[in-house]
Order: sequence, then C-alpha cells, then structure tokens
Amino acid sequence: MEKRIAILGAGESGVGAAILAQMQGHAVFVSDLGKIKDKYKEVLSTKNIDFEEGKHTEAYILNAELVVKSPGIPDTAPLIVKLKEQGTPVISEIEFAGRYTNAKTICITGSNGKTTTTLLTYHILKSAGLNVGLAGNVGKSFAWQVAGEQHEVYVIELSSFQLDGMYEFKADVAVLLNITPDHLDRYGYQMQNYVDSKFRVLQNQTNADYFIYCADDEVIKQEMNKREIASVKVPFGLGTPANPGAGVQENRIIINLNQNQFSMSILDLSLEGKHNSYNSMAAGIASMVFQIRNEQLRESLSDFKGVEHRLERFLKVHGIEFINDSKATNVNSSWYALESVHKPIVWIVGGVDKGNDYSMLKGLVTNKVKAIVCLGKNNAKIKEAFADCVASIVETSSMEEAVKASYYLARNGDTVLLSPACASFDLFENYEDRGRQFKEQVRNL
Ligand code: ADP
Repeated sequence: MEKRIAILGAGESGVGAAILAQMQGHAVFVSDLGKIKDKYKEVLSTKNIDFEEGKHTEAYILNAELVVKSPGIPDTAPLIVKLKEQGTPVISEIEFAGRYTNAKTICITGSNGKTTTTLLTYHILKSAGLNVGLAGNVGKSFAWQVAGEQHEVYVIELSSFQLDGMYEFKADVAVLLNITPDHLDRYGYQMQNYVDSKFRVLQNQTNADYFIYCADDEVIKQEMNKREIASVKVPFGLGTPANPGAGVQENRIIINLNQNQFSMSILDLSLEGKHNSYNSMAAGIASMVFQIRNEQLRESLSDFKGVEHRLERFLKVHGIEFINDSKATNVNSSWYALESVHKPIVWIVGGVDKGNDYSMLKGLVTNKVKAIVCLGKNNAKIKEAFADCVASIVETSSMEEAVKASYYLARNGDTVLLSPACASFDLFENYEDRGRQFKEQVRNL
C-alpha cells in the first residue's frame, strides 16, 4: 500500500532507502539537517525525489506515515521524540529494506570486530561463488542493493544504532562478537540499555536460525542466562570446541557444525592476534551454515587481505614498525591492539573520550609501553591514568607532531602504534582521515 514516507538523513543509507521507497510506489520526502553530499543530491534529483537540506520541515515530516531514520540521529532528538509521541513508526534503513527481500541475511554485531568479520565472511562466501551482497555500515546500503540488485545472501554489519530501529526484521544467522562499554552517551549511561540493543540482533529468530556468539564474553554469557533463545546456539571461544561450536586445540581452530568438522592451524590464518582468532571463527561458522567446502574455507581464511586502519602494519622506518589502528575508538579495541604487539611500544592515544575507563589498560601499558604520545584536544584523563605506568608522556595537537614525537622516542626494534581508544572528531574528520594522515606523516619521515 502506498504510504507517505519521510527519510531523515541523506547519507548512504538514507538515499538507498529513498530509492527503494520510490521504487515500491511510496511518496518520498528526504530531509537532512546538515549539508547533503553532491553525489547524493545528484541521485535524488535525477530520480525526482523531493529533498531538503540544512533543515527539517516539521510540517512535512510529522505528516508522514512512516519515518526511516539515519542511525546517526539519536532517539532523543526533539523531532524523533515528537514523532514517537504522536505514534509515527520510526525505523532504520535495514528494517525498511528487510521488508522487500527474501534473501538470507547474516547479521554481524558486537562492540569491536564488526567490519573485519563482515568483510571476512563476505570474502569467504564470494570466493565460494555465492551470489552475495555486502551491506550495513560497510559499502553500499542494504536498501540500495535491494532496490537494484538481486543477491541471494547478504552479509550485514549492524551497529547498535541500526539495531535500535529494527522491529520485525529477522537475521537468519546472527553473530554477536563481544559486548564492552561503548557509546554509553547514547544509552543514558546504562550498560544494560546497550546490552539490550545488541541482543536485538536475535529478535524474531526461530529454531531454524543460528545464533553465533563469543562464549568467552562474560557480558554475553550473563545476558544469555536471563533469556530464552529459540535459535540454534553456536558458541566460539579459545577453549575446547563445543558441538555445534568452535574452539582452539593445540594451536588449531576447530569448528563443528551440522555433522561437519573444520580445522586449521592458527598460524595459517591471515589475520593475526587473539581478537582475530575470534573473528575468524565467527566468520567460519557463519560461512559453514551455507555449506562452504572445508578447503574453500581454509583458503579464504588464509588469503584474506585485512582491512585498512585495523592493526594495519604498513611501514618500517629505520627498524621501527608503524601500525595504523586508527579504527580503535574505544578502550577494549586498544587493549587487543596492545596485547597483539610483542615489541616495546610507543603508543599514540587520545581524541574524543566517550566516557573511557582506562584502568583495564594499566597492566599492559606498564609492561609494554615505553612512551605515550597524546593526540587530542584534552589529554588530562590519559595523563592522569598512566602517570605511574610510563616514564614519558608527551602531548601533541596534530598528526605531524605526534608522528615526529613518536619517531624521536622510538628506537630500532620498537613499534609505534596508533590505537587511540577514542573517537577522532576533535582533530580529524573521522577515523579514516586520522589513519590516512598518520600514514602520510610516517611516509614523510
Ligand atoms: P568495528 O567495525 O566493530 O568497529 P573493526 O573490525 O573495524 O570493528 O575493528 C576495530 C578495532 O577493534 C580494530 O582496530 C581492532 O584493534 C579491534 N578488534 C577487532 N576485532 C576485535 C575483537 N573480536 N575483539 C576486540 N577487539 C577487536
């Protein structure tokens, strides 16, 4: 049935939703409080879709029968509050697109490792010849693909913000990598709200669906004790593998699923570090649901190229290795980064603090970090947290300064690690910009 649909936010997901909505015969209006990128404006104009930028005209938006909201807009925004008060359904782009496709979906969420695991799963399925699409926070939006392409399976990266706008959607395969405090500012500083949001990845699942989760994660385990879960539960962890499930034995990962056993040496995995063993197991299980041959899976887990800005070892200068982990925007991901380096570290850290508690890093920092280079507008919390852990802490306010300072502090055989544990918006456009500037400055040394 034709509806009046308002779409809030004209980025990749909003424009995709607009195209799909128009194609389905709805009356569409797109509104963005900020500036819309030229490439998106062009698409909207070519398709004769009405849009506005720099404002939200309430008369139109409050008159819509359905609103598709960008995950970037918080539920507390006055306009969203008004819409909810008057009973207008407000949903996310994934929820909307899910209504127009019968394709199978693998939905991947967690506090850390989503993009890596999503791209790895996509790589495995694609290499095995499946007609697979990549969607969510990475690549082209889900809605855009549903409107224009016919994939049989989608691998979808879901943030908690996407999940918050999902109600009827069901993942055929749900993957929950881990839950550690993040984005608490958007969850009323209540961890339980954030946990509930992540567990929405399970909603509407039946016993024909799969729930793949990290069995070593205390928060996930505790939450599972409180819930009835209908789907087939497939745990992964570093201990003995369950059946169905994945684990590690004598330095090999083992996956048991549907009468099939897969095994492979950890040394042959293309992605290094404990966290990546988790990611590889999760992607491996999800792929095995689709009956990928063991040899094919082994090959894909060993030839995956990795993802830019995630523990990216890109250059050595005078025996000093530089690692770009700009995507580490919370404390937990920096923990894994520090854990995975086995040389003395000069650590570049800082940016916009999202309510960080640095205490879990103190042990690692004391043992591994020889110097800290702060890179942020306000570094007081970092200096205070690590004052007794390292001999030198310096403050910088641009990437050029930070790279020069770390080069000066490092010696042959050391590692300079950019793993900020913070968001980037004080000094950079986004984490990609931060990572690119880092690489550029290192290349200039
Ligand atoms: P996300 O998409 O969830 O932000 P990414 O795959 O982009 O996750 O990785 C972000 C950072 O998190 C990486 O730089 C890495 O240091 C860390 N990381 C990756 N996988 C995991 C994991 N399974 N557990 C903890 N930290 C991880």
